[in-house]
Amino acid sequence: MDWAADLERGFHPSLGWGLPPYTVDHGRVKVIVAGAGIGGLTAALSLHAAGIEVLVIDAAVTLGPLGVGINLMPHAVRELTELGLGEALAATGIPTAEHVHFDRHGNRIWGFASGLNIGYRWPQYSIHRGELQMILLDAVRARLGRQAVRAGTVFTEFAQSPSGVQVVVRDRRSGTVSAWPADVLVGADGLYSGVRAQLHPDEPAPCWSGIMMWRGVVEGTPFLTGRTVAVAGTNAALKFVAYPISRQAELRGRALVNWVAEVMVPGGSATAADWNRRGRVEDVLPWFAGWTFGGLDVASLITGAPQILEYPMVDRDPLPFWGTGRVTLLGDAAHPMYPVGANGGSQAVVDARVLAWSLARALSSSGTPAQGLAAYEAARLQTVNAIVLANRDMPADRLLHLVSMRAPDGFGRIEDVLSATELATFDQAYRSTTLPDVAALNSRPSLTP
Ligand SMILES: Cc1cc2nc3c(=O)[nH]c(=O)nc-3n(C[C@H](O)[C@H](O)[C@H](O)COP(=O)(O)OP(=O)(O)OC[C@H]3O[C@@H](n4cnc5c(N)ncnc54)[C@H](O)[C@@H]3O)c2cc1C
Repeated sequence: MDWAADLERGFHPSLGWGLPPYTVDHGRVKVIVAGAGIGGLTAALSLHAAGIEVLVIDAAVTLGPLGVGINLMPHAVRELTELGLGEALAATGIPTAEHVHFDRHGNRIWGFASGLNIGYRWPQYSIHRGELQMILLDAVRARLGRQAVRAGTVFTEFAQSPSGVQVVVRDRRSGTVSAWPADVLVGADGLYSGVRAQLHPDEPAPCWSGIMMWRGVVEGTPFLTGRTVAVAGTNAALKFVAYPISRQAELRGRALVNWVAEVMVPGGSATAADWNRRGRVEDVLPWFAGWTFGGLDVASLITGAPQILEYPMVDRDPLPFWGTGRVTLLGDAAHPMYPVGANGGSQAVVDARVLAWSLARALSSSGTPAQGLAAYEAARLQTVNAIVLANRDMPADRLLHLVSMRAPDGFGRIEDVLSATELATFDQAYRSTTLPDVAALNSRPSLTP
């Protein structure tokens, strides 16, 4: 890590725009990753495993375990397992057993098995996002060295030539602006990505669905299987999602329950999306008065959470391209999506792995970094853009809405509300928009270069 250590010691920051062209040494290609979130840190581990040098910068002065619950689907768990993190995930998250849907009165509509229970070789995990980020951060520091991640360092702009890229950063503590040379820049800087803004300067603000989400975590007694993702209502109006996220709580016979309350706000207007914004009990509780389902009392979950976070459900229109030359995007910077199919974090993980694989492959066959990035984009862009669009109009959500229209006061038997064909369609619709084919995932070759 001499290069990152040099940067850490302040060796390069004195260099400015007049820097001579950076010479690519294929044995020691250097990548700057902007953003130490789930995608950026996974990229660092994957690039390092491929023999590529990496420096990760993050705007946050301190990298702490922020956020609440997130789901990692089997396709992402496979990648993290191949990076050697399988045991850490198993010790931290809950291997999800099933997803069950209820109407807003608590009547069970439909359920399906998840992860290992439907034949994947890797589990789905429901996990605390901050704990996941810390697992990744600890692994990066242990494998690449502490200097490989620089907090408090804000990406501001880049300039590239055929032989290299200059990355301009601002140190938040000192205010110093520096230009750092690299072979590749990866923008993993989330929804308001500065790298994306430079690549697509005319892009409008994120698109708001009209739904506000409040989120919280509270410890309670296990419900249903103890490993169930339980969903009530529809996101055409009101929806409440709850799932346990802590293996440590489970070992104590308890459940650390993550909940998300979604409200289609009548006549609302979009607010800036900030994952850390505090919400207020009084804004969310009235919408869910009297709701119970799957053994859960929604009011207790809402009032029991030590803190509530508020976030508008936003995404961005799919991009025609993610990068040019030596610069690319991954994760939310490339394709922010509604968090309805448990795919935001999962797709960021897969992006990171495909990026490292594509770059390593190009370099090992005497190709250029730009060719590696082009191969990465070709492998991922269409697939992920389709997921962004599918998440805006989940067929499963349409069926949940149908149930609420046909049986607004509840029902005794779901068969009286939905036909067998409609139920089968429901099942299929969920799988095809959210999950990869089981046999295809289980049998495809590893992305470890
Ligand atoms: C603080 C936080 C809390 C979150 N909580 C949840 C949650 O509870 N549930 C959920 O489903 N999803 C949550 N998310 C979003 C979720 O992590 C992502 O949707 C998904 O994991 C994809 O990850 P990503 O790495 O692409 O982006 P992110 O995880 O958003 O990471 C982006 C990183 O880039 C950094 N960054 C931004 N701008 C710059 C810049 N100019 N220079 C350098 N670094 C920059 C940010 O500090 C952040 O660490 C949260 C994200 C953040 C940042």
